[in-house]
Amino acid sequence: MAHVIDDTCVSCGACESTCPVGAIAPGDGKFVVDADSCIDCGACESACPTGAIKAE
Ligand code: SF4
Repeated sequence: MAHVIDDTCVSCGACESTCPVGAIAPGDGKFVVDADSCIDCGACESACPTGAIKAE
């Protein structure tokens, strides 16, 4: 399981530094979570101003 960032992401980057394992990085038009690195902690969820980050 991993967290995912949906299309409501506005690429603000607010979530990137909240991830303890560095799984969040800029992607094509939105930020993306590396599913292999994500430990499903949920630390990034509350950082997102658009609520784009969800548990998959
Ligand atoms: Fe990183 Fe935790 Fe968010 Fe996964 S759930 S992307 S490990 S902050």
